[in-house]
Amino acid sequence: MAATTPDVDVLIVGSGPAGAAFARTIGDAVPSATILMVEVGPAIPGVRGEHTQNMTESDRVAAQLLTQGPHAGIERATALADIAEGIDPSLEFRQTVLPGLFFVDPRPVHGCGEVGLPAASMASGVGGMGIYWAASCPRPRQSERIACIPGDQLDAALDRAEQLLGVSRVEGGDIGVPGALRAAMAAEFDGPGLSPVGFMPSAVRWEGDTLRFSGTGVILGEIERTVPGFELRSETLARRVVVEDGVAIGAEIEDRRTGAVTLVRARHVVVCADGLRTPQVLFASGVRPPALGHHLNEHFQMVSFVQLNDEFDPAAFPPDERGALGYVLIPFSDARPMQGGVMALANSPYKLSMGDDPATQRLGLVAWYGAKDVLHRDAVEFSETETDFYGMPKMSIRYGRTERDLETIEQMRRNSLRSAELIGRLIEEPTLAAGGSSLHYQGTVRMGAVDDGLSVCDPYSRVWGVENLYVGGNGVIPTATAANPTLTTVALAWRSAIRLAAALG
Ligand SMILES: Cc1cc2nc3c(=O)[nH]c(=O)nc-3n(C[C@H](O)[C@H](O)[C@H](O)COP(=O)(O)OP(=O)(O)OC[C@H]3O[C@@H](n4cnc5c(N)ncnc54)[C@H](O)[C@@H]3O)c2cc1C
Repeated sequence: MAATTPDVDVLIVGSGPAGAAFARTIGDAVPSATILMVEVGPAIPGVRGEHTQNMTESDRVAAQLLTQGPHAGIERATALADIAEGIDPSLEFRQTVLPGLFFVDPRPVHGCGEVGLPAASMASGVGGMGIYWAASCPRPRQSERIACIPGDQLDAALDRAEQLLGVSRVEGGDIGVPGALRAAMAAEFDGPGLSPVGFMPSAVRWEGDTLRFSGTGVILGEIERTVPGFELRSETLARRVVVEDGVAIGAEIEDRRTGAVTLVRARHVVVCADGLRTPQVLFASGVRPPALGHHLNEHFQMVSFVQLNDEFDPAAFPPDERGALGYVLIPFSDARPMQGGVMALANSPYKLSMGDDPATQRLGLVAWYGAKDVLHRDAVEFSETETDFYGMPKMSIRYGRTERDLETIEQMRRNSLRSAELIGRLIEEPTLAAGGSSLHYQGTVRMGAVDDGLSVCDPYSRVWGVENLYVGGNGVIPTATAANPTLTTVALAWRSAIRLAAALG
């Protein structure tokens, strides 16, 4: 092993929204802190952590080609031909691979009766998936909320997360096509005990007439200026956290350009390497609480396209009302354990090429996410002998569906039909997206109130049984959810980072 580098107060593994929330919060609280953030993927030219939707088309494509890990530099169409061959040649499967991401396992093997997560994907680059995300930030509702955190504390953390992400509440959006769509959905889906239909809070802001998405860089803010001891080191892999006598003392990191391996000594280590790779780093470190990698869950996803009826035709509304940002949200409720979303694509804030064909100008999208039955047996597992592209323990995913899951999927199908019929004509039957498509992998390092073998960390994200070791990211969320998780993830990271910063003294 090479020479030891100077100590830092905090070593953060991963530069996505979770790692960024830790860094920013610790830096705000203790500007004199030394914080090293390591990221296995490359830096993206331009503004650090910038959202790709804010880039020019050519810069966006260049960024996407950089963050695809083993498929870096390969245009998606070429990679698809290779990845899908022999597994699942269906169109749905192909549609789930997004530019900038790469598959967890291009040849997933399923156990008997299992369905796996064939489309499970990740991104490796500065900003993580937070330079690609769609910025939807619903708050968790009812049983989606985390019981081991007092309600007022969770609400305060969600408030702060909204600030960090720059989430805008949709004021005055109840006009034009979005207003008409919301009214139609509310008439059908509002009811006693159900969270009312509204608009999706989103981490976006208008600059003049340009809509800007919050990328991970927005969370980091001006940390390089305000915290002189902050450093973000790209193309640097955390191979393992080093634990001595039950205390995390740093991590072994590898410079991917030179192959040099160094021990970085740190007072605190925070692993925010995404929902599948955070347990991988812990596994590689010999930190293996019984729940590590288990309770893996992602919400089911069903997306359908609709030809909108005349009354929702964007052309029928005055031009100044067409631009309203309005993604209608039918929130999760225990009585309806799923989340619906409806939008007119002509109003979409996303850079979609709609062409001039009037038919495509009338397209709407109906998306339903269903909560998964959380089970110990659904898990990401790691090999003791085989390694992945980065030389880390190879992953395999065990994933099945219960009777209740099948009922949820059937209810999603019915709600897809109901919501689509209210506003237009379905272009094709609603189909369940391939497992892994949601990109929201939860539960693998879940938090819990006590160390009873069913959780990996405490309510402040401290790993049970190892001092000075924290985890962050969607994997920490212990509940079955349909809501997009990043807001909650940033909230949990903030809450944990406040506690960590206090310990820095
Ligand atoms: C197209 C798209 C749309 C999305 N839309 C939404 C949405 O609307 N709402 C929502 O809530 N969420 C959405 N998401 C998901 C959202 O992006 C993630 O929830 C969020 O990025 C998770 O943050 P994270 O920091 O935990 O992980 P990531 O953003 O995945 O970052 C983890 C980082 O850790 C790095 N890393 C991994 N292992 C190591 C290692 N050993 N050493 C060093 N670095 C390592 C990775 O390279 C990666 O950069 C979307 C994602 C995508 C791709």
